[in-house]
Amino acid sequence: MGVRIEKVRVICTAPEGINLVVIKIETNQPGLYGLGCGTFAYRHLAVKLVVEEYLDPLLRGREVENIEELWQLMHQNAYWRNGPIENNAISGVDMALWDIKGKMANMPVYQLFGGKCREGIPVYRHADGRDLDELCDNIQRFQEMGITTIRCQCGGYGGEDYGRTPGTAPEGAQPGVYLDSRSYIRNTVKLFDGIRSKIGYEMNLVHDVHERIAPAEAIKLARELEPYDLFFLEDPVPIEQTSWLRQLRQQTSIPIAEGELFNNPSEWKSLIAEQLIDFIRVHISQAGGITAARKLQIFAEQFGVRTAWHGPGDMSPIAHAANIHLDLASANFGVQEWSGIEPPNFVIQDLKGPHGALLEVFPGLPEYRNGYVYANDNPGLGVDINEKEAAKYPCENVVTTWTQTRKRDGSLQTP
Ligand code: MG
Repeated sequence: MGVRIEKVRVICTAPEGINLVVIKIETNQPGLYGLGCGTFAYRHLAVKLVVEEYLDPLLRGREVENIEELWQLMHQNAYWRNGPIENNAISGVDMALWDIKGKMANMPVYQLFGGKCREGIPVYRHADGRDLDELCDNIQRFQEMGITTIRCQCGGYGGEDYGRTPGTAPEGAQPGVYLDSRSYIRNTVKLFDGIRSKIGYEMNLVHDVHERIAPAEAIKLARELEPYDLFFLEDPVPIEQTSWLRQLRQQTSIPIAEGELFNNPSEWKSLIAEQLIDFIRVHISQAGGITAARKLQIFAEQFGVRTAWHGPGDMSPIAHAANIHLDLASANFGVQEWSGIEPPNFVIQDLKGPHGALLEVFPGLPEYRNGYVYANDNPGLGVDINEKEAAKYPCENVVTTWTQTRKRDGSLQTP
């Protein structure tokens, strides 16, 4: 009899105040278990419920080895497919199954994809500042740490919060972050002009539009940013408006990265096949985990589209590890977003540093050293969970407010 699933458990923990959802698959083999990430930080209870009430009963007693079969089984089980809650639940199970398979093979997961085609993963970091000088100081700090690609913003995504100053929003307008796309575009072009004149053209620079302007404005911004030699422009248009990428492509040579909000292959297939984007940025748990992401990566390779998987703070170290294992084995890897677990903010040996709690809960997180992130060579994904530590940081269920961004007239703008 093969190795079978005994129980699929959910562990919710928030060591850094962000709700993380970890799925643990226990098997009938003593000591053999797998861990996966199903973090949908703003709907964590919904993912937990899908796993506990639907996937656990579906999967108990099934053989852990048949990942493809189990992925399709979960994917088709609810009849309606590809929603973000369902995909995160599936991802948690899927990553845990790859983790188990690696442990059974006594190999790191990247070996199961054919092995490494690079030793370390170059990552990009995010820099902002209140003004050009502060931003350039932050860029220099990252440069000294070995970072070669930096995402630069002026203010938050979409620019400063312009507030409801008299004469902008109508009386009685709702609270929220108020954006002014025209000022944002002007300020951003000025910012990149300033950065390039201060630091030159050696660093790769990235800018994230975060879907916070109209598509026609994105074309204008992209054209005006052309002289500053961006590595890519991130999410210039909302996922509902990706057909605008054709016009964008025709009018500018700026490289485009899109897709941290994608859930469904129908959202990325034609963008890749028509070569309307240069980098695919899917958040792999939103797409259904390693199985879905590996298929997407290989598909993109055929069209010369590179990967830049989403790597924000609102995913667990297990998901960061999954990104790194995919990156290590992908010929069409571009760059990896990394949300900041490295010196000088944190010294690996010193667990009392700012990320100490996260590393006590999740020992084995891939390590940053001088511009590159390295996976450890433990079998599976290489990240464990200390459940006792995890229990010290319970998740809180609160109404999400940062997504309530608004235009000058007070109407909602995609966040
Ligand atoms: Mg982004």
